[in-house]
Amino acid sequence: MPKKTIASVDPRGKRVLIRVDFNVPIEDGRITDDRRIREAIPTIKSVIDRGGRAILVSHLGRPEGTGFEAEYSLKPCAGRLAELLGKPVEFPSSDCTDAASGAAVGALKDGQVVLLENLRFHKGEKKGDAAFAAKLAAYADVYVNDAFGTCHRPDASMVAVPKTLVGKPRVVGFLVEKEIKFLADALKKPAKPFVVVLGGAKVSDKMGAIEHLLPKADAVLVGGAMAYTFLAAMGKKVGNSKVETDKLADAKRAIDLAAKLKADLHLPTDHVCSTMFAEHGGDIEVFDEAIKDGYMGLDIGPKTQLKFALTIGKAKTVVWNGPMGVFEWPPFAVGTRAVANAIAEATGKGATTIVGGGDSAAAVEKFGLAARMSHVSTGGGASLEMLEGKPFESVDLLDNA
Ligand code: ADP
Ligand code: MG
Repeated sequence: MPKKTIASVDPRGKRVLIRVDFNVPIEDGRITDDRRIREAIPTIKSVIDRGGRAILVSHLGRPEGTGFEAEYSLKPCAGRLAELLGKPVEFPSSDCTDAASGAAVGALKDGQVVLLENLRFHKGEKKGDAAFAAKLAAYADVYVNDAFGTCHRPDASMVAVPKTLVGKPRVVGFLVEKEIKFLADALKKPAKPFVVVLGGAKVSDKMGAIEHLLPKADAVLVGGAMAYTFLAAMGKKVGNSKVETDKLADAKRAIDLAAKLKADLHLPTDHVCSTMFAEHGGDIEVFDEAIKDGYMGLDIGPKTQLKFALTIGKAKTVVWNGPMGVFEWPPFAVGTRAVANAIAEATGKGATTIVGGGDSAAAVEKFGLAARMSHVSTGGGASLEMLEGKPFESVDLLDNA
């Protein structure tokens, strides 16, 4: 069921509570990646440009839930947001429900923005606590969920707050609308050929997505560490590569499912390996098929890169979740870059290309290819759950269009 968006609400003179996801990486008080803030701008501007009063709430990191902790303050986000909007953003207090926050909300004028402090300084946020939710709900005439990265969580600001606001407009923001459009709607009936590229650290993280997407996919390309659990399950020699021994049966099940559905499941046929799990210092060698004892696979090899790129090149829809190797270390980033390039080129030829997963999104940013993808998700866990076809209570309970 499509959801009402903020575009269909007249926010003039109204207090619009916008749940954003400003859970950005911060090092020494500096934001190292502001993408989640940038992606929230269209919704915030839509509210304030039409004379609404924007009250922004978010979490950041995993504080104890026992009050203010400087390390997890959203203050740097207020500064960055003010720069991006080109107007002041009020940041009134160290507690999102104290008198100072309430006063700042009360004093808001049309077109102004206030950002409240980290919701998770209160235990009630993670607990979905009704009393905590009622305090936040009291700020709002309109509720907007634009926190895609948190949509899979039943936190108070995501579920209990909109539940409390029955009778008032409760809508999605433009970011959540866009994420659903790509991660769910585009995959209901994907344009074919539909190619799914999976990689990253663990089979266990991706099993749900594999099982949901295999029936729709023409080809599934598997790389990254998870490929070694698949290869081990097929009886291949994987040396010291990362294998989840308790997931061999899951991998076998996925292999059998692919065979049953006649989906092409491609595993790496060559591997860039090292004797150490380290950027430098190990003896690096490329192996076809059997990996020598003492070596571990840290990237897909050149033949696999070519094969994957060719398959991606024929696709009309591509979903990619999980790097092909340890892309954080340049000697093992080549495979991930090759796949990212092939996907960018497919976009250029008219394919719909979707990147989900926090590390995959970071890789695409790092390679400067983000603008050449149809969509790069802002959600890690949330994007994966969407690829698993799971419903989100935080979205389902909002007003239908
Ligand atoms: P995403 O966040 O995109 O879903 P994951 O979190 O599942 O991706 O996995 C990303 C991590 O997997 C990266 O830190 C990367 O270094 C690691 N990785 C990829 N390939 C390998 C490999 N062959 N061996 C060990 N680690 C790997
Ligand atoms: Mg990750």
